[in-house]
Amino acid sequence: LRTAGKAYYNEQGKGVYIAGAVLDITEHKQDEIRKNDFIGMVSHELKTPLTALNAYVQLLQFKLKETENEFTTETLNKINVQLKRMSLMIDGFLNVSLLESGKIQLHKVDFDLVELIQIIAEENRVILPSHFIQVIGADGMIVNADREKIGNVINNLISNAAKYSKKESFIAIKCEKRAGELVVSVEDEGIGIKENNIPKLFDRFFRVESPVTQTIAGFGVGLYICAEVIERHQGKIWAESRYGEGSTFYFSLPTAE
Ligand code: ADP
Repeated sequence: LRTAGKAYYNEQGKGVYIAGAVLDITEHKQDEIRKNDFIGMVSHELKTPLTALNAYVQLLQFKLKETENEFTTETLNKINVQLKRMSLMIDGFLNVSLLESGKIQLHKVDFDLVELIQIIAEENRVILPSHFIQVIGADGMIVNADREKIGNVINNLISNAAKYSKKESFIAIKCEKRAGELVVSVEDEGIGIKENNIPKLFDRFFRVESPVTQTIAGFGVGLYICAEVIERHQGKIWAESRYGEGSTFYFSLPTAE
């Protein structure tokens, strides 16, 4: 290809009008990189005050246990839920930024996945007293994975299950051993997802367009990051749902050698 003005010509002298597109892509890419760096920076800066806020709330909760004042306990719980959501969102942005710049790294260790699920379920029972969280399944499932990032995936799925369902409903987390892999599922009794939206769930910035979803805070990055994290562990992630009845999100991880 050689260029003439803004058009390209191939060897037969035929015009190939892609010059504009090539320029656009370059500019677009630089724009994306700048946006990405900015998102990364902002998220990073927001993390510091948020971590401090989390610590203060925990301290207050600890102190207030002695007084048993229902109003303050309940209010603090609500603050905690929102803080947790904010943390997940900021972590989400930070991770998107790292993912896009190829900087995300896995720190793999051997650990018991069921034990981690039990710990996360217990934490979520405290911050989500609105839902009944159950853990069902096998004990002792050792994986070689990034414990923190897999923890974030589980937290994200539980947080979504609670966000997109009514209060007082059940969230069931199941762990299952299959040939060469472990499968974890998070099932809710929530609003469900229409079939045509299921293939788009793990796309960056995808959110179901519905009046209900619009009233629920979110940016559509949680599942995108979950998918990236799981895929980098050579695992799979997928969803099944019945609109109006509930959804189940699954992920699999290879068992440790
Ligand atoms: P966010 O929840 O911040 O919008 P996610 O990437 O976590 O972003 O989810 C993408 C979209 O998938 C959500 O906006 C919602 O429309 C849909 N979704 C995710 N989890 C569920 C669920 N458990 N039940 C119903 N819809 C869900």
